[in-house]
Order: sequence, then C-alpha cells, then structure tokens
Amino acid sequence: MGNFPGSFARERIYVSTTDTFDAEADLDFIAIEAVINGDPVRLTTAEKIFAARFLDGRGMTPSAIAYLIRSTAHTVRGWKDNGWKRRDSATPPPVKEREEPVCGERRMYRRHLAAGESCDVCRAANTAADRRYRLTGSTEEAA
Ligand SMILES: [Zn+2]
Repeated sequence: MGNFPGSFARERIYVSTTDTFDAEADLDFIAIEAVINGDPVRLTTAEKIFAARFLDGRGMTPSAIAYLIRSTAHTVRGWKDNGWKRRDSATPPPVKEREEPVCGERRMYRRHLAAGESCDVCRAANTAADRRYRLTGSTEEAA
C-alpha cells in the first residue's frame, strides 16, 4: 500500500501560497494540504481530484495517491484518464458533497478567517454559537 518516495513523507507540501480556497470550484486548499501531508481530513470529490492531480504531477503512483486521499487506485486512474474530471456516472456519488457555506455559518466564518476577511454577520453568528455552546453544550440553535 505505502510506496512513498522517502523524500515525500518528510517534506511539508504547500498547495497554494496565496489562496486558501477556490470559491468557484469549492476547493479548500487547507483541507487538501492537510490530506496531502497525511492528516485525516475528509475531502469533497472535487478536492480529492485536485489533490490527486497535484500528487500525480509530483510523480506519485495512483495507489499512493489513493492511500492519502482515501480513495482507490482504480478511481485515481479513472480521473486521470478522464483529464482529471469526475467520471460521468448514472449513479449519484456515494459521498454527499459539502454545500457552499453562506454568511452566518461557522464554516463561512472560518473561511473568512483563513482569507483574512472580516465579516460582521459571521462574527456575530460565531459569537452567538459560542454563547449557545457555553449555555447548552451544543452549537445548534434550540428547536
Ligand atoms: Zn460572512
């Protein structure tokens, strides 16, 4: 399974130095980078394909890529054969895609933080969620 080139495992790899996400493609570079460096993070299919393409470009084998992104070598080869696009399939993807975060969600708040942006809506929502958590032990709004 492993098949890591020795230098690869020790080297911290940075996917992007300027962007932390690609809003158009919904790519979370921080998550991709974490996975590439062996951290257990769940990626969307688009993010897995991005990571696979990136790693393939660095000469990694499909099985080594599959191990990192928690997919199969068969799937990785399929993406590559398809020009690094998801294969058209009659069956829906088994993993539910994350939806684009909107202002007022904690995920959007974290995205603002990562991008160095300031957003009153998200900051207020995050503060409210923190307060809720301290009071109720849950970040969910009471039903
Ligand atoms: Zn916001």
